[in-house]
Amino acid sequence: AARAGNQTFQTEVNRMMKLIINSLYRNKEIFLRELISNASDALDKIRLLALTSRDALADQPDLHIRIKADPERRLLHIIDTGVGMTRDELVNNLGTIAKSGTADFLAHMQDSDKQGSGDMNDMIGQFGVGFYSAFLVADAVTVASRAAGGRQHVWHSDASAFSVAEDPRGDTLGRGTHITLHMKEEASDFLQADTIRALVKKYSQFINFPIALWAPRTVSEPADDDDETPAAADDAADDDDDAQVEEAKEETPREKKMVEKTIWEWQVMNDNKPLWTRKPADVTDEEYSQFYKALTKDTAPPLAKAHFVAEGEVTFRAVLFVPRAQPADSFNRYGSHTDHIKLYVRRVFITDEFNDLMPNYLAFIQGIVDSDDLPLNVSRETLQQHKLIKIIKKKLVRKALDMLRKIPDDEYMHFWKEYSTNIKLGVMEDPSNRSRLAKLLRFHSSRSETMTSLDQYVARMPPAQDHIYYIAGSSRAEVEKSPFLERLVLAGREVLFLTEPVDEYCLSSLPEYDGKKFQNIAKEIFNFDESESAKAQHESYKEQYAPLTDYLSSTLGDLVTKAVVSRRLARSPAALVATVFGWTGNMERLAMSNAH
Ligand code: ADP
Ligand code: MG
Repeated sequence: AARAGNQTFQTEVNRMMKLIINSLYRNKEIFLRELISNASDALDKIRLLALTSRDALADQPDLHIRIKADPERRLLHIIDTGVGMTRDELVNNLGTIAKSGTADFLAHMQDSDKQGSGDMNDMIGQFGVGFYSAFLVADAVTVASRAAGGRQHVWHSDASAFSVAEDPRGDTLGRGTHITLHMKEEASDFLQADTIRALVKKYSQFINFPIALWAPRTVSEPADDDDETPAAADDAADDDDDAQVEEAKEETPREKKMVEKTIWEWQVMNDNKPLWTRKPADVTDEEYSQFYKALTKDTAPPLAKAHFVAEGEVTFRAVLFVPRAQPADSFNRYGSHTDHIKLYVRRVFITDEFNDLMPNYLAFIQGIVDSDDLPLNVSRETLQQHKLIKIIKKKLVRKALDMLRKIPDDEYMHFWKEYSTNIKLGVMEDPSNRSRLAKLLRFHSSRSETMTSLDQYVARMPPAQDHIYYIAGSSRAEVEKSPFLERLVLAGREVLFLTEPVDEYCLSSLPEYDGKKFQNIAKEIFNFDESESAKAQHESYKEQYAPLTDYLSSTLGDLVTKAVVSRRLARSPAALVATVFGWTGNMERLAMSNAH
């Protein structure tokens, strides 16, 4: 077969490899997770193809991942029966960077001054650094691959350049990819069966295909009279042996000698029954946590989880998680959002690119959905249009909000610190879930050092109070000094402090809570004491101070709409008030700072 000359990697690939090797040298072990995840992706792809193309599996009906170590020659083999790659795919997929994930990673790493710092590993862990992580442990990598119906090609690289050629050994694979790592001296540990098992357990136990290791097992067998060599014993011979044992037992059971022999076999290392198909009661917290980490590459356990079966118009199973930390770039991408829900149909992975399963404001939720009611044998595009997708989304959102409501109090402030903006945007963007979302809101208040929920506020309201009062400003310290607050606080009324830019917009889109309307105390109309005596007193003040209000109106001219005697101040001499439909000072401040 013709051998192709050396080809150079795309510049980005070289940068990528340098970055990976410089920043992950202490975390080399992730290479196995990355290669197994690629094998699993390739198996997902062929299984998906097989749904619409009957012969896709013909060359190799089994779907599995196999790992074989060869310590003498310092080789590690990772073999899958996935889609495989054509010659062009080998060049493009392994020689260039065409996908957004890696580009994101590169961008993030380049302008990051965190390089080399302690939380670096955590950060990198969240990106799929992919195939090139093989060079963390290998001096050279050989990839033999065969796509369904095609010829087998072999790609080889020592990290500086690569070559691709038709495989001189012929089409040894039915279909799939065989990666051979030529391990570095210092990476010899990864050729040990125990190390490999531990890594599979740590990172890949929830892969939905069997991952088998070529490993020895010691078996005890009754010694035979004839000189059959143990190594030659195959399955059929084993059966014969069993038959002989039965006979022997009847004769001299105690005298039968046992011999130990070692057999080599493919030993499955993972539990490849999807976790979500199990009963929630049978899954431990630790298993959920491991599943979450495998799904997200997060290193911390999730903040909250939900595992349920939805029934009715559509039946599906789902597992949802809230990550402990908001992804750092969430709001840069807000709107052009990608959700983090993986869609399966009857245990077959379909896509994680629909972005139709969660609204923007819940894009931080991670999880999987598996439905038996969706058609398998249609294109992804057709599936995306399917009417059940909308129904699934609606139910997922309800369940997600339930999950958030159930976060215990001691964890809730952590959630709120990370995700308060999401919830407030939800109030503004999702009218159908507005009241559910309102229950999740928390605000500072004049009555309490800790943040309060609207339920808690309403519970403290005196019977005479019919509005929920709030005031907005840039900080708690600022609004606490506001003259608008004086008489209310003296009268024992509680006022919510809206100190985040989005707060005032959020409450403006919330018509009421528990039947109570919101009242911005910085607005003109606000008047909390309507007793007859208060009114009479006010009328007399108005007359008495008419010369002053006239003077202020004419002196300030266009700067104010009018100057009136106030009914809201206790100690301060004067306050600037917004008109009913006008902007409050806080809104003006926000609009001005946005314009600059
Ligand atoms: P990612 O998995 O995020 O796409 P990788 O760097 O891990 O990025 O892999 C690059 C690409 O190489 C994959 O998208 C896939 O197309 C291809 N690839 C890698 N490993 C395999 C494999 N075992 N079988 C088929 N294709 C593979
Ligand atoms: Mg990958």
